[in-house]
Amino acid sequence: MPTRARLFEFHYPITFNGDNTHALIVTQLPLVPELNVIKKDWRNVDLTVALCFPNVYRTGMTGMTVRLLYALLNAREDVACERLFIPTRREPLRSIESNRSLKDFDVVAFTLQYEQDYVNVIRMLLESEIPPRRDNRTSKDPLVIAGGPCATENPEPLAEFVDLFVIGEAEAVLDPLINRIKEFEKPAKHVDEFADLKGVYVPAVSNSVNRVWVKNLNEAPCPLAQQVPLVDQRSPYMPVFGKTFVIEAVRGCSRCCRFCLIGHIGHPKRERSLTKIDEILDEGMRYTPVKKISLIGPGLSDHSKLEDICESIVSRGLELSIPSIRATAVTERLAKSLAQGKQRRITLAPDGSTLRMRTIINKNMDDEQIVDAARTFLQHGIRRLKLYFVIGLLGETTEEIEAIARLSKRIADLGYGLQSVHISVNPLIPKPHTPFQWEAFASIPYIRECLRLLRKQFRGDRRFRMSRLDPRRAHIQAFLSLGDREVGKVVELATRYGGGLGAWRRALRESKVSLDKYTRRKELDEPLPWDHVYVGLNRSFLIEENKRARKEAAARM
Ligand code: SF4
Repeated sequence: MPTRARLFEFHYPITFNGDNTHALIVTQLPLVPELNVIKKDWRNVDLTVALCFPNVYRTGMTGMTVRLLYALLNAREDVACERLFIPTRREPLRSIESNRSLKDFDVVAFTLQYEQDYVNVIRMLLESEIPPRRDNRTSKDPLVIAGGPCATENPEPLAEFVDLFVIGEAEAVLDPLINRIKEFEKPAKHVDEFADLKGVYVPAVSNSVNRVWVKNLNEAPCPLAQQVPLVDQRSPYMPVFGKTFVIEAVRGCSRCCRFCLIGHIGHPKRERSLTKIDEILDEGMRYTPVKKISLIGPGLSDHSKLEDICESIVSRGLELSIPSIRATAVTERLAKSLAQGKQRRITLAPDGSTLRMRTIINKNMDDEQIVDAARTFLQHGIRRLKLYFVIGLLGETTEEIEAIARLSKRIADLGYGLQSVHISVNPLIPKPHTPFQWEAFASIPYIRECLRLLRKQFRGDRRFRMSRLDPRRAHIQAFLSLGDREVGKVVELATRYGGGLGAWRRALRESKVSLDKYTRRKELDEPLPWDHVYVGLNRSFLIEENKRARKEAAARM
């Protein structure tokens, strides 16, 4: 049995798209034992990168982002990448791989998946004794980078804290970026030298930037040796879908539902072919011997071979997990595969409560299609359902709020049992680069009233469980989505005051910044804080889509 010190000294090439120079390693680490940890000897690399997920391990290791970035960075012989998460159990903020502090790395790279994690970005820097504001950092401090959907959406709220933002997809920019960083002994002192790189936004320069993306998903790497925590099912470190091998079957979505950020900053939809997925499965199961496959991608329901992929997975005796499915994509074949793959619960996202609301948000499907999908799942033994709804939409009426309960009860009446239908109701957060970027966040009293109405409708019916995002937190999320650099001051103060709702109230009061200034309805010709970020959609397209939505909302009131 090797000692812990010996295990830390292992250095081996990562398995990546069929490179079979890999060996399975299990490490007993301070936080959580894992399969396929990559531990490099820092004496043999040119650059060390702390990959920071500003939330807990369980959340960070559920999807593909951390696993992919970890593999991409470690695939380079000259780079050692280690992961840091927000502590789950008050453990020290140290890297999983070698128990090092953020301050020890050359580069600190955040992946920004959710706006509400911005306080955790500042917290991680503060707790590591790195001045959060870039102007206060010295040449001894690491270069701070951020990427992910929130960086592409609107980098401005964190612009005073981050040296460089990646706008778009990592694969398209990572190598030139790392090469450029290596050119400088103190890259943070030369950030203006990065503004010419495609997909890189430099807040100190405020350059205009175009989103970069991978053209062909089949040619993009997929990690085969994925990190899996070797913990008990009930452990707080267990990822949301358990021990899974994750395959990104689709990237992006071309449907452009008017409220959806990913539909606008992630287009176009790109598929991984069935042949490629079969190859990944064959190899991946050698290096990541788990029993469950998690298929992901926002446009997954639109994959032209989705049924074949699911059948291929279950024919290998593997379990299957997909996060959600569009009602119009549900078929007998698909439901049968999911049931065979032991998917116990499925998520459908009608988003709008009625055909009228779904037309306004450009999510065109009628009630019958949603009910039919729920019926098909039930017939195949999938007896638990989650339904997502958005409230606070343009032109919404009380009747439309009540329609959430009507549709949900119609579905439950198909034969769903006790506690088997989970209703998730969330207010619209207007997002940059979508046609709703000019719309207001609904008032908190209005959202509370909608929620009260719904609770009344479901009261006493034990088939349902209802959850919702706290409207005050949703309002802060909208503020962070739609903010500028002023907003960053509030984020910093809120972090220093503890990050809770009371901290936000105090930070807003002391900084004299108004939430409503950012979350009000805006004029279509008003300058917006993210105007310098071009994601590939013209403003005229978004204006046309906004006008269509407003017309739909007004016409049928
Ligand atoms: S809501 Fe779903 S279908 Fe619509 S644009 Fe977003 S990812 Fe695509």
